[in-house]
Amino acid sequence: MTATAGAAARGTRTAGDPAAVGGAMALLEREARPIPEGEFERSLWAIAATVVDPEVPVLTIEDLGVLRSVRVIGDHVSVDITPTYSGCPAIDAMRDDIVSTLASNGHPGATVNVVLSPAWTTDWMSDAGRQKLQEYGIAAPAPRGTGVGGAAGGRINLGLGIQCPHCGSMHTRVLSRFGSTSCKALYVCQRCQEPFDYFKDH
Ligand SMILES: [Zn+2]
Repeated sequence: MTATAGAAARGTRTAGDPAAVGGAMALLEREARPIPEGEFERSLWAIAATVVDPEVPVLTIEDLGVLRSVRVIGDHVSVDITPTYSGCPAIDAMRDDIVSTLASNGHPGATVNVVLSPAWTTDWMSDAGRQKLQEYGIAAPAPRGTGVGGAAGGRINLGLGIQCPHCGSMHTRVLSRFGSTSCKALYVCQRCQEPFDYFKDH
């Protein structure tokens, strides 16, 4: 993923945000990506949104839905993030990166709060994020309630199995509840025999 592609993806999503979508979908979109209304806050959000998940560096914290709020209180910037998994050790690295990224863009001394409630849901992960995960070789969690997921064009039915990101087969089995990191589970595909990480759904 190039910086240009990343910027384009972000631009597309910002441009297509809530106002364009009607009814219940707009509510869902707002909840999933609560980009602030104020212009200054939005510019700070855009800076914070460039921070990536240290474990899956193709995904930004905005793609993940981890970035929840950017507020300005007086001359102080306050950012809320919600980890995808309450024991996720990557959250400390993300917090440090948000503070340093804001500082290097002229906004030093930001506070980053880790907010555990409401808990992160897979619905907060953007479609672009799901697609990037899949292309990275990690099975993406399905949006809650839809039973549909997998940007490679397939369906992921959580009750039935996890789709192999390499060949698309549903014939997979879990090898370990913990994959390369505690935020992922390790699966193996019984068709192509490739092991893969599954981004935990919970
Ligand atoms: Zn496979």
